[in-house]
Amino acid sequence: MHDKQYLLIPGPTPLPPAVLRELSRPMINHRGPEFAARYRKVLEGLKPLFGTQHPVTMLTCSGTGGLEAATVNTVSPGDRVLAIVTGVFGARWAAIAERYGAQVERMEFPAGHAADPDVITHRLEGAPEVSAVLLTHNETSTGIMNDVEAIAAAIKGNSKALLLLDAVSSLGAVPVEMDRWGVDAVVTASQKALMNPPGLAFVALSPRAWEAVERATTPRFYFDFRMARQFDQKSQTPWTPAVSVLFGIDAALDMIREEGLPAVFRRHENLALAARAGCRALGLEPLAGDRCYSRTVTAVKVPEGLDVQELRKRLRLKHNVIIAGGQKELEGKIFRIGHLGFVDQYDILAALSAIEEESRGLGMSVKLGAASEAACVATAGHACLEVGM
Ligand SMILES: *Cc1c(COP(=O)(O)O)cnc(C)c1O
Repeated sequence: MHDKQYLLIPGPTPLPPAVLRELSRPMINHRGPEFAARYRKVLEGLKPLFGTQHPVTMLTCSGTGGLEAATVNTVSPGDRVLAIVTGVFGARWAAIAERYGAQVERMEFPAGHAADPDVITHRLEGAPEVSAVLLTHNETSTGIMNDVEAIAAAIKGNSKALLLLDAVSSLGAVPVEMDRWGVDAVVTASQKALMNPPGLAFVALSPRAWEAVERATTPRFYFDFRMARQFDQKSQTPWTPAVSVLFGIDAALDMIREEGLPAVFRRHENLALAARAGCRALGLEPLAGDRCYSRTVTAVKVPEGLDVQELRKRLRLKHNVIIAGGQKELEGKIFRIGHLGFVDQYDILAALSAIEEESRGLGMSVKLGAASEAACVATAGHACLEVGM
């Protein structure tokens, strides 16, 4: 039974059979008509997930490459950049901008807290020098979700800065309304809610961001969006793309359309509620509060004396349940359950039951069945896939 695994980390995520079938298709000419048709279909099909009418650019790289691409194309050396840091991924983006010569100011919020739009308003009032703001939608390292709509409003009300958004662990699982919120760049990647292997990143830019692409003086080659735009007119990419992953994304978008975006969002919401309630029933408190919790990853504090490494090891060896630990300063202090993409209520119940059994084994006193009972009560039995009858 070793190939039956509950892969519940916040990316890479489990691959649906329909995606696996597409991934095994024979290779095609990436300069031929069959590719062009798939490319157009996928890039058009992604627009509702981005909440945009503007074109989506496809890059062959991981999510970090997408963040780097968004940065080098819209930020120039010497530009003042405000990086909103709510965890490891926000810090990474700040480091990228700094490496390329931007003057980066970090606005940090404590682990488990979302960014406060009022603090951002206060910082930007009368500060026309900030040319870009970097924001993480869903901070995967702490399990919080930022209120992009409110933050975008705070920025627009007080400055002309571009708002660049890391939506790698949110897009496709929670609503992203790029155009309506007024976001200038949205970055995502294939291996999270898009239910695919790592390999492709997608970036959508607003007209204002495209103007910045023309102006930006940062050197760039592989990630040059001007080249991407030129080749896009032929429905091609400048360089050889991850063709198989494009096939996989096509299948994933078909699945998302079939389930319906609102149902996809509800499922993720319910999975988060189930994970939070289940852990609380075990005496394990989520790191994020009830007002800013992530719908795609639940980070859970572990009490002194509960060895996270040992817990994760037992989950893996005895239950085939794979969950993530903490990153950087949070290592040993939290574990994280990823519940995005091809995940349903039974995956979460499996994880909760396994955590319950092993935390009992490690000396915590918990009532048998408490976690799954709490998860079911919290979601009133609605965490299921809403399959048509
Ligand atoms: C996964 C993730 C990334 C991208 O990481 P890669 O390993 O480069 O794909 C970026 N931002 C967030 C918030 C993520 O969760």
